[in-house]
Amino acid sequence: MIKKVLIANRGEIAVRVIRSCREMGIITVAVYSDADEASMHVRYADEACYIGPSPSTESYLNMDKILEVAKNCGAEAIHPGYGFLSENATFSQKCRDHNIIFIGPGPDAIRSMGDKITARKTMIAAGVPVVPGTTEPIREDVKAIEVIREIGLPVMIKASSGGGGKGMRLVKKEEEVESAIRMARSEAATAFGDDSVYIEKYIESPHHIEFQVLADNHGNVIHLFERECSVQRRHQKIIEETPSPLITPDVREAMGKTAVAATKAVNYSGAGTIEFIVDEDQNYFFLEMNTRLQVEHPITERVVGVDLVKEMIRIASGEPLRLQQEDLCQDGHAIECRIYAEDPDNNFMPSPGKIAHITEPKGLGVRCDGYIYEGYEIPIHYDPMISKVVCWSRTREGTIARMKRALYEYKITGVKTNIRFLERIMDCMAFKEGKYNTQFIEQNQEYLVGPQQGDPANEDRAIMVIFADYLRKLSQFETKVIAKNDSADWKITGRKKNLFT
Ligand code: ADP
Ligand code: ADP
Ligand code: MG
Repeated sequence: MIKKVLIANRGEIAVRVIRSCREMGIITVAVYSDADEASMHVRYADEACYIGPSPSTESYLNMDKILEVAKNCGAEAIHPGYGFLSENATFSQKCRDHNIIFIGPGPDAIRSMGDKITARKTMIAAGVPVVPGTTEPIREDVKAIEVIREIGLPVMIKASSGGGGKGMRLVKKEEEVESAIRMARSEAATAFGDDSVYIEKYIESPHHIEFQVLADNHGNVIHLFERECSVQRRHQKIIEETPSPLITPDVREAMGKTAVAATKAVNYSGAGTIEFIVDEDQNYFFLEMNTRLQVEHPITERVVGVDLVKEMIRIASGEPLRLQQEDLCQDGHAIECRIYAEDPDNNFMPSPGKIAHITEPKGLGVRCDGYIYEGYEIPIHYDPMISKVVCWSRTREGTIARMKRALYEYKITGVKTNIRFLERIMDCMAFKEGKYNTQFIEQNQEYLVGPQQGDPANEDRAIMVIFADYLRKLSQFETKVIAKNDSADWKITGRKKNLFT
């Protein structure tokens, strides 16, 4: 059994992994960059080691440094979290070469799924339905036009190494092809160091529905049902829920079987996610596999009743899966909201800075996985996601009501956040009725970000302007912080004892 784990990550996911380790009696080692010296994951772990300057290329992506630290501190295993080195085949291989357990799949499985073109080929061979399109990189624009005429517009130009919604372009007209390829290529080259792109049919009004899988080193593979992730902005998820309001039990069963078959096809080990794009008629197509723990994994944990990080660690230790498909079921309904330090009124620009005040939601059926605290300064170097609120109740309706309550409770001042934006989504008719697809945010843009009559938020905002102006006159106050606050929060700030003394 593994006794000591190094977590090669930061922020909320590092804290989340350490929590499960602690429950298992495993000693944890955090790693940190200059910017993260005061980060919660560093404080929460049993040990912490400095690995380099703030840019992730010099710290969280520095494989040799991380391996050196793991060796020196006697960690037998490394958990990579998500992002950073989690889907890096070279790192998985290097761990193996250094006799350190990589808590995740082997290099071959990562390689065959990490590259989307290779993954498409592998899935076709395994009989898994993929989105119609090319199985080779596009080299010339002329060829691209030929392909497009064959599969029909609209299409997506996608980077083979893509991730995080980057390197993707929608093409509606033939004359857009050339520039779309150019843009997708250059974005992919900058973000992933690989400019190969391919063409995929654009599925209209689609749903993003993914299946969580677990595979051990003894050939056993199970799925833990689906997550509906169609609430997206710029092809990135912000709200996820399970069960999906779209699919029927029959489709769910068929997709689950397909997900297991896809996983078996690459000799997978550990936790993974098979992503599907699903059309209005519930036809589903393989999109990609994420060969790691996913941001939205907690909703599955809640509804299926499994600690995915513990399962990953047990699998990595060589234990066979104790769970069997027949034993698993979906109990109730869970929704996750991703909380970002960003400004919804200014095109969701990241809003790093110092946390003046934070009150996290609590109470029955609420889980809040975060890492920030009062006085903490969110660094500019990393992803602006600061926490995830996960709510559960027996029914979907009850879960939405609970999420609204949790978001109401959640107060963060000092930086801008998307909390009020998320609250509006909970109030949006299409969401409440469970009738939404990946176009949801675009289609409801006005309702979600526009000013609204009779919205208490606006009244608060008006009062805030007067209040901020008043504060500005009192020179000893940090009016910048107050003025930047989300609406309604002035009340809390106003109650702070030192404000008028
Ligand atoms: P999830 O489904 O878990 O949300 P995402 O694709 O949104 O998956 O990625 C999770 C995290 O990993 C995000 O913080 C994202 O920025 C990061 N990430 C994903 N893919 C890459 C990549 N290829 N390079 C760098 N970061 C990535
Ligand atoms: P990433 O690796 O960046 O996560 P994905 O291939 O998983 O990229 O796609 C991310 C999102 O982009 C999907 O969830 C979906 O909303 C949209 N998308 C991708 N491919 C298509 C497609 N062929 N048709 C329609 N939407 C798509
Ligand atoms: Mg994806």
